[in-house]
Amino acid sequence: MSLAIALFLGALTWTLLEYCIHRWLGHDARFRPNVFAKEHIRHHSQGDYFAPTIKKAGAAVVALVLVTPPAILVAGTTLGASYAIGLVGFYVVYEILHRREHTSRGIGPYGRWARRHHFWHHFGDSSKNHGVTSPIWDLVFGTYQAPGVIVVPERLKMQWLTDPTTGDVHDDLRAWYELRRARRAAA
Ligand SMILES: [Zn+2]
Ligand SMILES: [Zn+2]
Repeated sequence: MSLAIALFLGALTWTLLEYCIHRWLGHDARFRPNVFAKEHIRHHSQGDYFAPTIKKAGAAVVALVLVTPPAILVAGTTLGASYAIGLVGFYVVYEILHRREHTSRGIGPYGRWARRHHFWHHFGDSSKNHGVTSPIWDLVFGTYQAPGVIVVPERLKMQWLTDPTTGDVHDDLRAWYELRRARRAAA
């Protein structure tokens, strides 16, 4: 097995973990309470909330410590360490991608796809599209849903969604996103 394959398998393992943690720890009542669900429910209800970086870094270190020894035992030092680096490295990619989906306007074609996939989970159907970096495991487990027009409640709107002068959804995003404005009390 080459180094590249070991790195790839590590990254692929992360995509499966990403799916399982999000779907079952984050959204399945049978596994609550748990630390991830607490943070994740807050992420859904506040929109711009992310668990503190120190907690994420701690989780990455724990994962590295748990995964590396058995991987080295099975595949030898170089390949085992490469597998562990692929897994934790792709976890970092996931964290950056997820944050940018929420916070950045220009994120390229892959970022735009990933963002629609993820915001359909946030605002369309939270029992669908648990994968963030890829749709692979949603397709495997039958939870993939092609996003329709994503209706974003005004309270949870992302900075990049609207034109700051008019408050309306940017022209180039209107085919994909709509804003649901809060009802104002009648005067
Ligand atoms: Zn999110
Ligand atoms: Zn979720």
